[in-house]
Amino acid sequence: MNKEAMTKELVAERIEATFNIDLLPGLIRDLETSLRIEGCSHKHKLATRYLEDHGVQDVKPILKWFRGNGGYCDCEIMLNVPYNFERKLTEV
Ligand SMILES: [Zn+2]
Repeated sequence: MNKEAMTKELVAERIEATFNIDLLPGLIRDLETSLRIEGCSHKHKLATRYLEDHGVQDVKPILKWFRGNGGYCDCEIMLNVPYNFERKLTEV
């Protein structure tokens, strides 16, 4: 395993320890609805709100993980993160 892949693994492990993966489907559904109403802020406004509403104390590592998986803003989280997340799971 190369260094970059190893770092990614470590980040993923840390995320899985702090982030309840079960929140992800709900987050994606919430983004689909909210983005249609509010549009994308080009930030993580809606994702931050959803995570905080669901008891996540520190959203920063999660947002970092989203960015690492192509989720640079709310609409990109919706488009890219589920795909990358599933791919990661099936690669294991
Ligand atoms: Zn966006």
